[in-house]
This record gives sequence, C-alpha cells and structure tokens, in this order.
Amino acid sequence: MAVFVGPDMEKDKRELLERQGYRIVGEHSAVKLCHWLKSEIAGGPGCYKETFYGIRSHRCLQMTPTADACNLNCLFCWRAQDWGTDSLIHADDPGRIIEDSIKAQRVLISGFNGNPRVSKDMFAESSSPNQVAISLTGEPTLYRRLGELIEDFHERGMTTFLVTNGTNPKMLEKLDPLPRQLYVSIVAPTEEIYRKLAFPKSGNEWRHLRETLELLPSLDTRRVIRHTLVDKWNLGFAEEYAKLDATADPDFIECKAYMFVGRSRERLLMENMPSHAAIREFSAQLADATGYGVAGEREDSRVALLTRDGALHPL
Ligand code: SF4
Repeated sequence: MAVFVGPDMEKDKRELLERQGYRIVGEHSAVKLCHWLKSEIAGGPGCYKETFYGIRSHRCLQMTPTADACNLNCLFCWRAQDWGTDSLIHADDPGRIIEDSIKAQRVLISGFNGNPRVSKDMFAESSSPNQVAISLTGEPTLYRRLGELIEDFHERGMTTFLVTNGTNPKMLEKLDPLPRQLYVSIVAPTEEIYRKLAFPKSGNEWRHLRETLELLPSLDTRRVIRHTLVDKWNLGFAEEYAKLDATADPDFIECKAYMFVGRSRERLLMENMPSHAAIREFSAQLADATGYGVAGEREDSRVALLTRDGALHPL
C-alpha cells in the first residue's frame, strides 16, 4: 500500500522518526499510533481526553503536518529536536495528507488484527478514525494550509483537536474553520522562565503568545489552555498563570505534569516530573486564583481539569 513520501525531509531524520514508530506522509507530515489507542483497542483504558471530553482513543488519528518544523526547543519535549526548520517552505495538499495519514494508520494498526485481546468490532472501528489530534510533533500552525486541512477532516465527519504553542496569532486569527477544540500551551508564568524552558528561536515568541491569549476570547470554538508543569522550573506561580489564563478566558484549563519520557530525559531529570499530588495541589491553587472549579482528574496521566463551573462538558 504505497504512501507518498517526498524528498524534503533529510534521510537521517526520516529514518530516526521511522525507527521511533512514526510514518512519514508526504514532504512534511507524520502519523504515530498513540499509546492510548493501543491500550484501548486491546481492552485497556483510553486517554484522559476520553475521560474529560468523550472522544474514543481507539478511533483517534495522531498526526502532524509539521513533523520537522518548530520554533521552540522546550526542555520537556519528548521528541528529537534537531528540527529541520522553523517555517515550512513547501505545503502538501491537505486532502493528500489526510488520505495518506489514514492509510499509514491502517498499516500501523494492522498488527492488531487477529490479536485475541482485540475484538473484530474494535479493530474495524480503529480502521476508520473519527477523531484527529493535530499535535504529535512540531508546530502545526507553521503549515499554511491548516484551515483547509481542518475543513477536510470535518467533511469526513471527524472531530479535530489542534494543539499549538500559541506563537502564531496571525494564523489563528485567519484560521477557517477553527478546530472543534483548540489547545494553546502556556508553559511558563513569566517571560524569563519561558526563555529558559522553551528556548524560543527568534525572541518574539512570548509577545506572540500574549497576542494569542488576547485573541482567544474572540475565537468561536472550545478553547483549552494547557499548562505542562515541570517541577523546579515552572510548577507553582498560580497567581501569574491565573492572570494569563484570564486573558484567554478558556473553557477548559488542563494542569498536566511533565512526563520523564523520550528525548526529554537527555535534558531534564526524573525529579522534574511532578507527582499527581503536586498537580492536584497546583490545580486547587489555580482554581482559587481563577474562580474555576476542578472538574476531573486522571492520576495515571497526572492531569487535572478546571472548568468555569467545575463540571465536565463532553463534546
Ligand atoms: S487525543 Fe491524544 S492522547 Fe488521546 S488518543 Fe488521541 S493522540 Fe492519544
């Protein structure tokens, strides 16, 4: 089953990503089976977004249109970071990216077919994803045909989660349609900590992130602020985060522990991974500072969810 693979990404980077379980699609996109898809297809639990928002992990396509492009170098990032570029020169056709991403997903799950722990129904459902997480790796707003990609996913009846580091307000402002759920990561309470933890490339990223937070209330979709918390770096500072969150007026605030996994282990220590108790304590402080309520938590993912009314609001 041929999947189009362009010449753009360096051969070494492509081979490294494929050894890590990615499938490269076109010139600059990639797919990778999520841990939680593999868990749920075989009868295990789904991811915390299934608990909080009702998506089904075994039907989730985890992909990125920017496998090799990002404008940050966050210490806590579990990916290899020798990014090819921080902007995308070539932009593949969105329809082709989706077609080939779904093909690649089917190749990746084919090994589950016939597995005694995997029912025929679960396997069949997993073969036709109805949810996409545009996250995986890189910064997706660097792909200039992102709006068309999201529109195409919607036309296929798929729900769309877009995760962005918020450094591209101009793209978000003109993004049409918007994803069903828009995630903006706020990974530091101050610019000083942001520079030390996220290693922005141009020096404008913090200002652009602030512009994105100002823009968010005007974007008519489900808005999520995610705080990825690294102990001894950006954990704490509830008052400072509350001010930033108030600017964005999000529907949801996720307080998520940094996880000591992947290539981040070359940059951080195990002790930088907060316990769930620390996440629970921080989210209670942030709830007090924002007036939001704790709506849910998942200890296995060390995450807590805040909403305006302290209740869950599934899709
Ligand atoms: S939403 Fe994210 S964590 Fe959940 S199944 Fe999809 S890729 Fe995995």
